[in-house]
Amino acid sequence: MKDRVEKVHHIKETRKDWLQALAHEHGTPIFVIDHEKIRKNYQEFKKYLPTVQVYFAVKANSNSEIVKTLFNEGASFDVASMPEFMIVYEFIRDMPEKERQDWIWDNIIYANTIKPIETLEELDHYKPLVTFDNREEIKKIQEHAPHAGVVLRIRVPNTGSMVELSSKFGADPGEAVDLIAEAFDRGLVVEGLSFHVGSQCTNFENYVKALQLSADIINETETRTGKKIRILDIGGGFPVKYHPEVKSFGILAKKLNTEINRLFPPDMQILAEPGRFLVANACTLVAKVVGKAFRDNKPCYYINDGVYHTYSGQVFDHVTYPVLAFREGETQISAVFGPTCDAFDTITLSAELPELEIGDLVYSENIGAYSHASSTYFNGFPPAKVVHINR
Ligand SMILES: *Cc1c(COP(=O)(O)O)cnc(C)c1O
Repeated sequence: MKDRVEKVHHIKETRKDWLQALAHEHGTPIFVIDHEKIRKNYQEFKKYLPTVQVYFAVKANSNSEIVKTLFNEGASFDVASMPEFMIVYEFIRDMPEKERQDWIWDNIIYANTIKPIETLEELDHYKPLVTFDNREEIKKIQEHAPHAGVVLRIRVPNTGSMVELSSKFGADPGEAVDLIAEAFDRGLVVEGLSFHVGSQCTNFENYVKALQLSADIINETETRTGKKIRILDIGGGFPVKYHPEVKSFGILAKKLNTEINRLFPPDMQILAEPGRFLVANACTLVAKVVGKAFRDNKPCYYINDGVYHTYSGQVFDHVTYPVLAFREGETQISAVFGPTCDAFDTITLSAELPELEIGDLVYSENIGAYSHASSTYFNGFPPAKVVHINR
C-alpha cells in the first residue's frame, strides 16, 4: 500500500514538474490541452453508449486541433454558428463533392434553433441537419433552407443542472406535434426530435423524463401524420467529475440504455451532443503571480489570467476553478485576482494558498470547457497561449 501511495505521489509530482517546465518553455498564461485525454473521453462515451452517435458540441471548446482530434476518432459535430461550421468544414474540404455532402448530412447538426436568414441561405448549400423550436423558424427554413433536414427541439426539465437552458430554447411539449405537422405540411423533412437537459446535469431524472416526453411525442406524431421519425437527439449535459460527489458516467449511461431500449424501436437513431464531457478534464491553465498585496487582512495575489479570460467559465458557466500552487507550505485564506483593471475580475476571495512570491506559478485543472472559448481581449490582455500535448 505504501508503495502505491508513493507511486501516485510521484506521478503527481512529475505532472507538476512537467506543467512548470511547459510554462517556462512557452511563457504564461498557458492553456494546456491534452489530446490523449480527449481521445479517452470520447472512447469512454462510446464504450458506455456504443449505439449512440457522438456529435461534439463545438462551442464547449472550439479549438480546431480539438476538432481535428475528435474528427480523427470518428466523431460527428454539433455546431451553432457559421464560423463553427467552417471549423469542421476545414477537415472535409478536400473530400470529393458527393462524399463531402454525404459526410455533412450524416455528421453535422446545426443545433442553434435560431438562425439568421443569411445563415439559412448558406446552410441550404451544405445541407446539415438543423434544429428549430418555433413556428417563425419553420417559415424561415421553408423559405431559405428548404433542403435541410429538420429536428424539433423540445423543452424538457433542467432541474438541478448547473447551466439552465430551458428558459431560452425548446418548444413546449404540448405544441410539439402541431409544430412537426406544420413543418411536414410546408414540405420540410422532419427527421427527428432533440432536447437538452441543461449543462452539467447531475440529476439523471431529467434524462428519464425527457426520454419519456420524446417517446410520447414521437408516437403521437407518427399516428397523426403517418410519417416516421427516425432520429432522437438526447443533447448534451453529461456531467464532469469536478467534485468526487458527481456520480460516474457509467451510472447515467446504464439508465439511458435501459430507457432507450424500453421506449424506442431498435432502428431509432440516437444522437448525443456532449460538449463539456469530452473536453473539461483535458485542459489545465498555468498562470503567474504578477503582483501581491495585503488587503482586508489577507494576502492578495494578482495573476496574469482572470475572469475575462480562461476563468470566464466562473461567470458564464457557473463553475469555480480552484487556484492551486506549485509551492508548498502552510496555507492561509487568500484572494486571487485577474490582471484587468476591473474589480469584477476576481477569481476567488478564499483560496487556501501558501505564501506566494511574485513570479510564482499557479494552476487550475479541469478547465477545458466554456473557458478559453469565451475568453476576451478586454483591457488589451489576449487569451492564454494554447499548448497542445499529443502523446
Ligand atoms: C451547449 C450545447 C451542448 C453541449 O452541452 P454540454 O452540457 O456541454 O454537454 C449540446 N447541445 C446544444 C444544443 C448546446 O447548446
